[in-house]
This record gives sequence, structure tokens and C-alpha cells, in this order.
Amino acid sequence: MKIIKSKGPEIFDIELEKDILAKNRNLAKENKKRFDRSNILAIDIMGSIGSGKTSLIKAILKRLEMGKKVAVIAGDLTTTIDAERIETEGAHVLQVNTGKECHLDANLIRQAIDRMKLDGVKVLFIENVGNLICPGEFPLGAHKRLVVTSVTEGPYTLMKHPFIFKEADVIVLNKIDLAKAMKVNPSQLERDAKKINPHVPFIKTNALSGVGISKIINALGLKT
Ligand code: MG
Ligand code: ZN
Repeated sequence: MKIIKSKGPEIFDIELEKDILAKNRNLAKENKKRFDRSNILAIDIMGSIGSGKTSLIKAILKRLEMGKKVAVIAGDLTTTIDAERIETEGAHVLQVNTGKECHLDANLIRQAIDRMKLDGVKVLFIENVGNLICPGEFPLGAHKRLVVTSVTEGPYTLMKHPFIFKEADVIVLNKIDLAKAMKVNPSQLERDAKKINPHVPFIKTNALSGVGISKIINALGLKT
């Protein structure tokens, strides 16, 4: 069978898209300035639906034991499930619902930080909407961006989504305990990661049991 390749993306409104992305980048810079003025380290957590973003945040909070010195903005289309799960760890949590939007943007984060009490907060986690495509294109002003994928997403996730993994400062492979059952080779995924983004840490985790969490804490510079 012959495989027919497309000639390239057929995007209409290219100018409009450029304009939106440029505006977002400017707002992201403003957000970052605000975080810097308040001495807050902000971390954007991106990854697919079900990759374990919320579970990772919970595991990190448990390990950090920083209580209300940590705040979390939980992005989701419509539910408050993630915010409720995170709240049990004792952090400040704000749920941001995006409706039909499949990513957070810098303007939503600006509005969120206006609504939050960030006095005394040292670390802010931002859980992005679950998807591996557009969140990468919309920086939020975070100092670091972590992308989490899990072995349950199969063997090709990194190769199929190079853009978002290029944006990452830390790449996490979660649900490592299920690798054998899923017939996924974590070393191959690590090789894929090194091809896409050679210098960022690649950390294997099981968020539910706590494996690898201290490595994430070190990689993000969160040692207290
Ligand atoms: Mg979640
Ligand atoms: Zn989107």
C-alpha cells in the first residue's frame, strides 16, 4: 500500500493565529514578572488526559510538606475533580474552567492570579488542560514546564508530539510499573526524548507509589 503524505499544514487565518500567539507571549512575560516580584516559582504541568498530572502534583505536595506555601491552579474543561483531589494535600487551589478551550493561556492565568491570595506562596503549580498539542504553544509565564506522559499512552507518544516535548524543562514518564503489561519499553521512550530534547532530565515515576518524585523535586529546584 502506498502512503500518501500531505503537502503541509493547511491553516487558513495564519495571520490571526500569529497575532494570538504573540499576544499570549506578551501576557506570559507580564505574568512571569509578577511571579518574580513575589518570589514565586511557577511550574506549568502539561500532558495528556489520564497521564497522571494531578496525581504527580499530589505526590509532589505530599513530599514537599509546604502547606499553604504552595498554590495550584487546576485547569480543566468543566469539572472541579482535580481541584478537590489536590485540596486534600493542604495547598491553596483555584480551579480554572476553560469550557471548550483545550489549553490554558496567559490571560486565564493572569485572571487566576488576580483572584488568588498569593501572599506567602513560594511555589505555584499550574495543571494545564489534558492534551499534548496546543498547551505547548501557549506559554503561561511559568519558570519551568514539565511534560508528563505515561506508558499507557503507548510506544509512540514522544515521536508523535515532538513540539510539546521540545518545550519541556523536565520530561516525566509515569505509570512505569505498568510498562511490561503495556509492552512499552521505557528505554526506547527515553531515547526518543533524548533525540527531541537532549539536555532535559527524563524521570521515570509511579505517582501513586511515590517512585521518582524526589527526582522531580530536585530537577525543578524545589528542594526546601
Ligand atoms: Mg488532572
Ligand atoms: Zn488548545
